[in-house]
Amino acid sequence: MITIKLPMNPQINIILLGTGGGRFATITQKRRTAGIRIISEGLNFHLDPGPGALVYSINEGLNPQKLNAVFVSHGHPDHYTDAEVLIEAMTKGTTKKRGVLVASRSVLHGNETGLNSVVSKYHQQMPERVIEASPNKKFQIGNINVSVTEARHTDPDTVGFRFETSEFGSFAYTSDTEYFEGISKYYEGIRLLILCVMRPSGKPWKGHMTTNDAIKIIEEAHPEQAVLTHFGMQMIFKGPAREAKLIEKETDVPTIAAKDGMQIRFGETISLQKSKKAKQSLNKYF
Ligand SMILES: [Zn+2]
Ligand SMILES: [Zn+2]
Repeated sequence: MITIKLPMNPQINIILLGTGGGRFATITQKRRTAGIRIISEGLNFHLDPGPGALVYSINEGLNPQKLNAVFVSHGHPDHYTDAEVLIEAMTKGTTKKRGVLVASRSVLHGNETGLNSVVSKYHQQMPERVIEASPNKKFQIGNINVSVTEARHTDPDTVGFRFETSEFGSFAYTSDTEYFEGISKYYEGIRLLILCVMRPSGKPWKGHMTTNDAIKIIEEAHPEQAVLTHFGMQMIFKGPAREAKLIEKETDVPTIAAKDGMQIRFGETISLQKSKKAKQSLNKYF
């Protein structure tokens, strides 16, 4: 029997399992809060597993036992609640020491804002490696070089992440942050920028990103594509798609408001696909 080996496609698939953020979007689930799954050849990681990460992973056919890294940007529930169960999945129900946990200081140790270590010490022992993420730290996971970016948020230990691929350049995730001078230097030369735009234009809130903040970051960093996610209630009511249009008009950077289940293919080109069972197009990984 001849087996035909199809050429492997090294493109990176980014699945927005959830696009909601903040307390009221979370407790009402107006938008899901399941975070982002990033999958490529030999690489499978979850970014900010808020409430619903486990359930929507399974629902979308993305087996959490295939994870090799869990990233938690800070110690707020819309970013961390499902981290422990995903670590249990990644470590095959705690029977195998495997995978990497990348998390902010607040997540690992707690901080002066009253947060405890929100991933228990017990769960911190399960992965093969635990990396405390602080701005400018660099490390490698699989064939991706990760650098930690700075964020300014109500959890002072919050960080974002920048992912460099050898073939296709880089993409990044800002996490919750306000605009500050110097933020864009972390995203220079980026191709795809995913921003946590909690609030619409004209609704400033210290430590959180509004459409106006996003415009400044995108104008300065000038990515090839911007994707907005992590919408709070006011943003949801105002209409994220309208806010994306406003950003695009102001910056000339193609900008899309993510929808739950949306998939981004990051390769030579960046393509966006509306919600679809992720597994149908990712079959080879499962
Ligand atoms: Zn948040
Ligand atoms: Zn937060």
